[in-house]
Amino acid sequence: MSFASRFLARPARFAEADAADPERAAPVTSRAEEARRALLARIGEFVETHDLAVTASNLATICGGLSGSHPELAQAFAAREIAGEPIDQRWLDTLGRLDPDNHSRIAELEALMDKLEYSLMRFAQTARSAQSETSDHRGALGAQIEAMAGADLSPAAAGELAQVLDLSRAMLARIEQVEAAMARSQDETERLRENLAKARMEADVDHLTGLPNRRAFERRLVSASIEARAKGEVLSLAFCDVDRFKLINDTHGHEAGDRVLCAVAATLNECAGDACFVARHGGEEFVLLFYGMDKEAARTRLDAIRRAQAARQLMNRETGKPFGRVTFSGGVAEVTEDSDTRSALARADAALYRAKQEGRNQVMVG
Ligand code: GH3
Ligand code: MG
Ligand code: MG
Repeated sequence: MSFASRFLARPARFAEADAADPERAAPVTSRAEEARRALLARIGEFVETHDLAVTASNLATICGGLSGSHPELAQAFAAREIAGEPIDQRWLDTLGRLDPDNHSRIAELEALMDKLEYSLMRFAQTARSAQSETSDHRGALGAQIEAMAGADLSPAAAGELAQVLDLSRAMLARIEQVEAAMARSQDETERLRENLAKARMEADVDHLTGLPNRRAFERRLVSASIEARAKGEVLSLAFCDVDRFKLINDTHGHEAGDRVLCAVAATLNECAGDACFVARHGGEEFVLLFYGMDKEAARTRLDAIRRAQAARQLMNRETGKPFGRVTFSGGVAEVTEDSDTRSALARADAALYRAKQEGRNQVMVG
């Protein structure tokens, strides 16, 4: 092995120390540059090959897997490729949850929001009680001033009292000002609390369909699985994906496609019943949680919804043309079957993939 090749084979962490020696630094820099370019090219190729959107979260997941900085992701990519299953957006979204940084960032933000809400609540409470105390003092002081002003005194004492009364009246006016300022800041705090609660709620809603969004689903999945495990109950989930939806967009336009998505969302929501949580996962994909249902019960329930959807005749109200039969395929998995909640997402995803492979408009169990 030549000196140069031995040198080039050294890990990147030596690069900084070697940089002090210009003769040795040059090849390391070009090697690092080469590796950087190669990684960038592989990421680009990956995005192209799998027809993925260029989003921050996609790039972070792909980079984690391809750079080797996240071995769990790298392993998942390799396993998927070996199984010959598609690396599409839904699967990538499922994988995104493997990224612990992403998880802790979301958890941190949630914790901050909780703290802010709590501080605002405490402040509003303190302001309310301070205001009522001040108001009591103001009342007592006002009554005292009136009583003193009406007292029958000698001229000398009355002169002294007049000074005290002036001071007391000035104090009373100041208390009134403070009280008004406190009432204003209390109103402001209440408004802030309402806005914060509204913003948090809106962040959980999908604006097209009005259903909870993926963020809300993920939180619900975590809390529901903790609760189900604690109570020894079963919990299942399902992914649903509208069949040949691209064709609807291509034939009728994107806006008509949006209306179809709303119609499917309505069917899912109406037919799911009380023991279900329905959310839009993204695109033409929906996700359901089935409380207290094992995978067979969940499959039966989802299949009934599938049949209801397939029986509906949807019409494009702008053109009067029928959309044709709009169906969906589903993949069900039992969350409580495995101690790792995330594995249910992968099983449901695989079951959905099989439902598509087997001809669509059907529900499979993972
Ligand atoms: P498959 O049966 O295999 O699921 O076929 P598909 O055509 O439904 O699947 P594909 O993933 O090829 O296409 C999904 C399409 O959904 C592509 C994308 O443009 C469209 N889409 C995603 N989100 C929206 C949306 O919010 N509104 C509309 N109108 N279209 C969307
Ligand atoms: Mg899809
Ligand atoms: Mg689809």
